[in-house]
Amino acid sequence: MDLTSPKTIRQIASDFGFTFKKGLGQNFLTSKAVLEEIAEAAEIDNGGVLEIGPGFGVLTKELSAHAKKVVSIEIDERLNDVLEYTLSECENVKIINADVMKTNLRQLISDEFGNERISVAANLPYYITTPIITMLLEEKLPVKNIVIMIQKEVAERLNAEPGTKDYGAVTLLCRYYTEPEIVTSVPAGLFVPPPKVDSAVLKLKVLDKPSVNVKDEKTFFKTVKAAFSQRRKTLLNCLSSAFSIPKPQLTELMESAGIQPGRRGETLSIEEFALLADMLFSSV
Ligand code: SAM
Repeated sequence: MDLTSPKTIRQIASDFGFTFKKGLGQNFLTSKAVLEEIAEAAEIDNGGVLEIGPGFGVLTKELSAHAKKVVSIEIDERLNDVLEYTLSECENVKIINADVMKTNLRQLISDEFGNERISVAANLPYYITTPIITMLLEEKLPVKNIVIMIQKEVAERLNAEPGTKDYGAVTLLCRYYTEPEIVTSVPAGLFVPPPKVDSAVLKLKVLDKPSVNVKDEKTFFKTVKAAFSQRRKTLLNCLSSAFSIPKPQLTELMESAGIQPGRRGETLSIEEFALLADMLFSSV
């Protein structure tokens, strides 16, 4: 059964009386080449994979061919019977019927994969892109790679360079914990039904240790968040209110770190954010 064929997808939908729910991001991928790129980027190496949102199981099947075990979380109960049918030959796949946002992933990974560092792969529904990435990274789950198909614009934001309009707090979250890379762009026409926007596959290779050394992670992320809280304001204004430091004192502190107080958050490299956060940590 070729799950990348639009005809097959429509046939399965008709046989099971399945209607696509836009709210759950049910746009199914039809490109064998993109599936292969996702599996390759995930560097599975016969290890464990966590998939989010199998849909009809097209990516699950591809992952299953490279993995020792695939655990796939699907929120939509209507897909249980479909997946039983489409994945009947994949003995190393386990489907869990749950909302990934309400799942204790640390527990699940430990129960299903023991101490192994796994890969995460998903064609993600757009509404949970940022919360999922934030959860996987901030909770420091035992994950070596995150390979996700997401809205192209969001992929560009997560992979943005300093000084560009896309650069923001979530870019720095990714840069801190991972090495981001856009693997490929995927036009909307390669999905059934096609979404309104194009997509891209983003790989986040989780680093063994964060990309910069900071004295206190909480202060680092508080600095980043504050710097982007009001994009039109200068760093001096944003940070002075977030850290309750009088402006003259903060000006002095920033200048001693070699960072002009009139700059805006989007112009700072991650190294400059680290420097600034360390200064703030030592002074409060
Ligand atoms: N993996 C398939 C593919 O590549 O064609 C389907 C991907 S489709 C974009 C997203 C899938 O995620 C849908 O099957 C949807 O039901 C599921 N989903 C949406 N929200 C979810 C959630 N909170 N937890 C788990 N699965 C979810």
